Amino acid sequence: MSADVTKTPSSAPTRGPRELIFETGSPAARCFELPPLDVPEVGAEALAGQARTSAPALPHVTEVEIARHYHHLATMNFGVDSGPYPLGSCTMKYNPRVNEDACRLEGFAGLHPYQPLSTAQGALELMVSLADALAEVSGLPAVTLQPAAGAHGELTALLTFRAYHVANGDARKRVVIPDSAHGTNPATVSMCGYDVVTIPSNERGGVDMDALRAALDTDVAAFMLTNPNTLGLFDENIAEITEMVHAVGALAYCDGANMNAIMGKARPGDMGFDALHINLHKTFSTPHGGGGPGAGPVCVTGALAKFLPGPLPVRLGDGSFSLVWPERSIGRVRSSFGNFGVLVRAYAYVLALGGDGLRAASEQAVLSANYLKERLKGAYPLPYDRTCMHEFVLSGGKLRKEHGVHTLDVAKRLLDYGFHPPTIYFPQIVDEAIMIEPTETEGLADLDRFADAMIAIAAEAVSDPDLLHGAPYTTPVRRLDEARAVKQPDLRWRPAAGE
Ligand SMILES: *Cc1c(COP(=O)(O)O)cnc(C)c1O
Repeated sequence: MSADVTKTPSSAPTRGPRELIFETGSPAARCFELPPLDVPEVGAEALAGQARTSAPALPHVTEVEIARHYHHLATMNFGVDSGPYPLGSCTMKYNPRVNEDACRLEGFAGLHPYQPLSTAQGALELMVSLADALAEVSGLPAVTLQPAAGAHGELTALLTFRAYHVANGDARKRVVIPDSAHGTNPATVSMCGYDVVTIPSNERGGVDMDALRAALDTDVAAFMLTNPNTLGLFDENIAEITEMVHAVGALAYCDGANMNAIMGKARPGDMGFDALHINLHKTFSTPHGGGGPGAGPVCVTGALAKFLPGPLPVRLGDGSFSLVWPERSIGRVRSSFGNFGVLVRAYAYVLALGGDGLRAASEQAVLSANYLKERLKGAYPLPYDRTCMHEFVLSGGKLRKEHGVHTLDVAKRLLDYGFHPPTIYFPQIVDEAIMIEPTETEGLADLDRFADAMIAIAAEAVSDPDLLHGAPYTTPVRRLDEARAVKQPDLRWRPAAGE
């Protein structure tokens, strides 16, 4: 394996940076030809000083040069189509191209959100049918498709919870969250005006029941739990947890970003959760990364249905489709109908796989993760050694202590082996965390190649730590100052003076 991975940049010359498009080409080069002008030319005086006096400094290239330029740019980045992308907590699965075709069908892509409902019956039917499917998968009967992301779904659900408590004349103050939670959970709580109470995880990676018991009282509005959690572990006490939460009049929220592990196997509604968001862009096949677009539908119990955002698409008695406002709606959380194209992709995915297919996807995702976990736990310590769900978290702490190699170095070195690194330094309760989620779409050969690379890198950390400190060697740019790259990005080309 490592024979073809060299230290020198020359091993991957074709992916390296090239000239900028502004620095290439020649003044005479064109990639278009306009027909001769057949109307009178407008003189500069007619434009009354509005016309520029010199031509803009645009690149002059031929068609083949511009085609190669954009193709080259596309190959400089790493995507799901380049190779395995085991980013934990993100479900970076391969998204079937047929879903892209579906959302580009003219009847969907050409719709206007304000056209008369009688002319958009198919779109409404699609939304009602998708909501029905998500209700079935989640075990929670009422669904809004409006939220545009997982974090937005959390906000929507907590606003719904607050409306429920207020309607009961019950001004609660706090929301309890385990320390393994995604950062969006406490952020959502603060945005809703509640105080965050963080409780620790137990030694098996689940909710610490004593800490939860101690944190719960009649001032608690909700308990937010990701299940399976961000360690990739299904909580062993889930039924008791939601019972305890309800016993003090609080509501139980499930962060459903990890639905990819349990579709068709276990339903959050059956576990006693009152609400759940689902990241369609993780579990239901929309390419994501770079900030969107996504969709974070929220599924709730019948008791919370009347607080959902509106309007909700509904099926009427005569088989036609319309929009209704829930009785005590919290209002809109998104313009129009949310990210409709994402909803089309999700529905196409549900129809293509069917109930059995969704279950099979989850089973395969869990099997893949457990396979990798068993192959890797000899090379990297596994702090919570249990059967995992769709992801698992290794620790790079031993490599740091014994060889001065950090998880960041391991992640950078993986790039030289042709893999996108896993999620690192999250969840924060694991020292030098390495969080791996292979998903159901990686075959055995790629899982093995990834495991081989990880094991080879652990050996390199022992034999040549500096090799890892200097990685990556084969990428278009080497190691960036990540703080500066975010704070002072240098992304604009400016013409030299006089151009
Ligand atoms: C991704 C994720 C979120 C946030 O979802 P976005 O769509 O990125 O807003 C929340 N919780 C968990 C556990 C996640 O993995």
